[in-house]
Parts: sequence; structure tokens; C-alpha cells
Amino acid sequence: MNIHEYQAKELLRRYDVLVPHGRVAFTPDEAAHAARKLGGPVWVVKSQIHAGGRGAGRFADDSSGKGGVRVVKSIDDVRSSAAQMLGKTLVTRQTGPAGRVVRRLYVEEGCDIARELYLGILIDRATSRITIMASTEGGMEIEEVAARTPEKILKVAIDPASGIQPFHARRLAFGLGLSGKQVGAATRFILSTYRAFTELDASIVEINPLVVTGSGDVMALDAKFSFDDNALFRHPDIDAMRDESEEDPAETEAARHALNYVRLDGNIGCMVNGAGLAMATMDIIKLHGGEPANFLDVGGGATTERVTAAFRLILADPEVEGILVNIFGGIMRCDVIAEGVVAAAREVDLTVPLVVRLEGTNVDLGKKILRDSGLPVVSAKDLADAAEKVVAAVRTHQSKKGGK
Ligand code: GDP
Ligand code: MN
Repeated sequence: MNIHEYQAKELLRRYDVLVPHGRVAFTPDEAAHAARKLGGPVWVVKSQIHAGGRGAGRFADDSSGKGGVRVVKSIDDVRSSAAQMLGKTLVTRQTGPAGRVVRRLYVEEGCDIARELYLGILIDRATSRITIMASTEGGMEIEEVAARTPEKILKVAIDPASGIQPFHARRLAFGLGLSGKQVGAATRFILSTYRAFTELDASIVEINPLVVTGSGDVMALDAKFSFDDNALFRHPDIDAMRDESEEDPAETEAARHALNYVRLDGNIGCMVNGAGLAMATMDIIKLHGGEPANFLDVGGGATTERVTAAFRLILADPEVEGILVNIFGGIMRCDVIAEGVVAAAREVDLTVPLVVRLEGTNVDLGKKILRDSGLPVVSAKDLADAAEKVVAAVRTHQSKKGGK
């Protein structure tokens, strides 16, 4: 799960990480009020969306050339900037061309920037270690730095047995070219941010830019947190920061029904029980020249309602041109699956081919329910047969559509 910049900064503040004062605002009046409370003479009005590149981003249908992060010098300008951003679509390198609608702003006190640096903490799966990355190239996307000047990225991997030690942080501080009291400030900053990362079960923290101010303070000017969804039950306060309007509606709906659903780029919708079987199903679809539209594990003990919700999710994806239901009914009963498929297909007016492979408990009853439903279901005898049939059915469906 991701959160907004202002929420990330609130968390960092709890760990005594230095961040500028700021207030969240949902309307231009609230933005002006926030600015008055903060005091001037300089403010920064920042669009809050779950994507980076806001500063260099541009608003759709706006030719002013102004971005999603604006430095302003009067309360009136705070208000008018807010009015120009709220409710508008901000397009950045990370949002893709569709952009994101700005619904919240963060109004911050201005900051006197001497240097812009980069700090990131993440889990490096190759070494199975939390890794801290730092760079003198702050403000730029780290992927770009990695591609063009990889030598400018410093990395320190933390041994989980010893945890972070002050020397790790000092090594990074010196590597960033800091000196004097800045070294101590950066060391405290890195140690505290690391503590926030581990105690909050984060998967990524990115501070870009991390700035050194004119007076030598080390401060987070931007902050991004991603959390391990499987640990959110330990952090109800973070779970409450969820902004569903920033998430894929299909994945939100799936989470509501406790379905494991991940949208992919292909056109063959999959409904499978068990994560392993779901992976195998995607593999075999690809082996037969098709592309899965999603990963979907309905779980072991799914009810008819859950299966109906799952099937509805698949059909709601406009890219889907064929569906493969692959169920090995062990704990799961095939008749329950069949009932869910029939209920959902009736509800949404099924217009794409449906291939079903059922095996296991109550398989005959399940097949009978599908047969008696009158739905145009293609039955498959095993996994390979099912993949072959769905890929062929999608091709026929496409050529019929193209021929019209
Ligand atoms: P991002 O573009 O989405 O990564 O948003 P950031 O929060 O990183 O802001 C983009 C850029 O705006 C930063 O790299 C800074 O150069 C600038 N910026 C952000 N806050 C301030 C501020 O308080 N004062 C000044 N002068 N510039 C700021
Ligand atoms: Mn940034």
C-alpha cells in the first residue's frame, strides 16, 4: 500500500526526522488558511497524488506550463494555485498519459535549499537485505541516475543480525560529501528513517530530495512510503491512511472480497483456485501463445458470492476477450464454482468465450450445472486442453469482431 507525501512526512516526524512544517488542504480556502497558519513569506503548494515527477508534471487542459509543485510568495497566490490544481488531472512521467486527479494539496513552508540529495531504503531481494541507497543527484529520478551514472549511487546493505549501526550512516554521509555538523545531522536522519522503515514494516522509503538547507540542516523535502500489505494488520493507523481513490478500483474490489487479484496486460481472464495453480495456468496460457489478463486466486473456501464477485471482476476488464476457469476442487467444491460462474454470467451478459476445466469434488454436479445453464461454455478435459481451447476461442472471437 502507498500513502501520500503529507502522510509520509507525518510518520517521519514521529521518528524525529526533520521535515518542513506543512498542512493538508482539500479546498482553495483551506489552502489559504493553512498558509496563514504556517506564516510566510514563502510557501510551496504541492499536489498530493500517489506518483512522483509532480514538479516536472503538467496539468491536462492547461497551457500555463506550471507543474504540480509550486513555490509562491503570497496568500493570494497560494489560493489561486490551489484553485488551478484541485480537481485537475496531473500528468507526470510516473502517472502515464491518463494522469491522476488532484484531490488534496499539501501547503508547506518554503525551504532554503543548498543541496538536493537522494536517500532510499528498500528490500534488496537478491541479497535478502535491507539496503540503503544514497546519491548526490537529488531531485532526479533514481532510475535515470542508475542508467546514466551508476557510480553516483552509494549502497549499504544491512546485516539483519546486527541491524543498522552508526558507521553505516556515517559512511553514506561522507560519501555524499557532507562535512562538519552536517555529518551528524545526516547520520541521525538516516538512523531515524531506517527505524521508521523497519518498525512500520515498510517495503520502500524514498526521500527525493533530501536537502541540506542554507543553515546546514538535513531535511526531507519529499517522502514516499510503500508498506507490506501483509503487515498492515499490525498498523491500523497506517491502514487508515489508505486513499482508495488512488488505487486500481478492480484491486480494491478484489480486496473487499478477499480475492487475490492482480491485473496484467493480456486478454485472457483467469479464475483459478490456489496461487500455484494460478501461476501454472498463466504459464500454460503463454506456452500456447496467449497472454493472461490477470492473476486471480479465489482461494480454497470460496462461497458462491465470492466466485460471483471474482467472475464479475474479470468481466469488468475491457481488455478481456476470453475467460479460462481452471478449478481443482479439493476443499473447493466444483458445484459452488459452477453456480458462481452461472450467476455472474447471467448478471453481466457474457459476450466472450468461456472455457472451463473442472476437476475434483462434485465435478459431475458442477458440469451439470454449467450444461443446464444454457451458457456457451466450452468444456476442457485437462489444463493443456483448456489453454489450447481458450487461445483458439479468443482468436475466433477476435476475427469475428474484426469481420463486423
Ligand atoms: P516530485 O516532483 O513529485 O518528486 O515532488 P517533490 O516534492 O520532490 O518536488 C519537486 C521539486 O520541487 C523538488 O526537487 C524541489 O526542487 C522543489 N521543491 C519542493 N519543495 C520545495 C521548497 O520548499 N522550496 C523550494 N525552493 N523548492 C521546493
Ligand atoms: Mn520528489
